[in-house]
Amino acid sequence: MSIAFIDLQAQRKRIENEINAAVKKVIESGAYVMGPEVKQFETQLAAYSGAKHALGCANGTEAIVLPLMAWGLRSGDAVFCPSFTFCATGEVVPWLGATPVFVDVERDTYNMNPDHLVAQIERVLKEGKLKPKVIIGVCLFGQAANYPRLREIADQYDLKLIADSAQGFGTTINGKHPSDWADCVTTSFFPAKPLGCYGDGGAVITNDAALTEVMDSLRVHGKAVASDLQGRTFEHDTKYLNMRVGMNSRLDTIQAAILIEKLNIFADEIDKRNVVAHRYNDLLRPHVASVPFVKPGFISSWAQYTIEHDNRDGLAAHLKAQGVPTAVYYPVPMHMNEAYRRWAPPAGELAVTEALAERVISLPMHPYLDTATQDRIVEAVRSFNG
Ligand SMILES: *Cc1c(COP(=O)(O)O)cnc(C)c1O
Repeated sequence: MSIAFIDLQAQRKRIENEINAAVKKVIESGAYVMGPEVKQFETQLAAYSGAKHALGCANGTEAIVLPLMAWGLRSGDAVFCPSFTFCATGEVVPWLGATPVFVDVERDTYNMNPDHLVAQIERVLKEGKLKPKVIIGVCLFGQAANYPRLREIADQYDLKLIADSAQGFGTTINGKHPSDWADCVTTSFFPAKPLGCYGDGGAVITNDAALTEVMDSLRVHGKAVASDLQGRTFEHDTKYLNMRVGMNSRLDTIQAAILIEKLNIFADEIDKRNVVAHRYNDLLRPHVASVPFVKPGFISSWAQYTIEHDNRDGLAAHLKAQGVPTAVYYPVPMHMNEAYRRWAPPAGELAVTEALAERVISLPMHPYLDTATQDRIVEAVRSFNG
């Protein structure tokens, strides 16, 4: 039997009846855009994340641009983010005319290196061309970045902090979610993410009520929200007032209905992913250069299970021949991609990022990966003598 890299059908079978009923209900209700399921899901998502507010939006990319727009980011502003990430993290920065400043990652967790962040902030300040404004930390492969330390740095330099948790939704640090430290947490419901829907979707989670209101306006063409209307009277239906230049970035009602069902089993799925990861770690450790490192007190949501190997490409070919699918996240760091090269820092600044891009390889990972299949995968890795 062929092995799935991420087996979404196994999950579908578990909650098939619930999801089918939820989708049917929305179709019959006719409330396709901003139906009641969106609000219900937002309330449940905020509760799950231990935060006061959650706003659905169209995808995990626009989830990152919404707070940046709300904070009025513009030309001349610097946004610090890793280069070792999915491109969406930094992609939204030039949308607003601002400049991405790439920061190297830690050798063991692959997440933003706080010391290198400080060095980059100091370099930007010394150069005097850009104004440091925002830090975007990423929960790469499922593990939270060092948000307590990133918060201290953000406070020291008066910067905003976003946690791009598209891969790490559900990750915790000593039982607390990234929203405890970040001004907002963004996530994606792309199907392959830990909490995925059946299409595109995203959300922003925050404890900041004023930010929530502005983002709620921005996601619907800059509509008037309560604070815009307070103490004023308007001649026309306030529904069609535009108070700021916004966009159309709503979470689809059908996707919200699906996500309500998936959120019900999400904590259990994270537990299951952790069981798989720990077993993989024990069995693979003797055979590869490194297995994933999760810091004490941190719980990963295991978007990916990523190992390092000195002959990564040889291992990938060998596993493919054995019927084991793999993927490389990410073979080309952001600053080495054509679109972003112009923002590359001086050579050598992102040495860890560049080394990792040559060495990492991700193995099949999902909550329903049974031990027999794990054993087949481990055996295939073991049988490689490259
Ligand atoms: C997937 C992903 C995104 C973007 O999410 P989309 O829903 O695909 O727009 C952003 N950041 C990271 C780290 C991601 O993995």
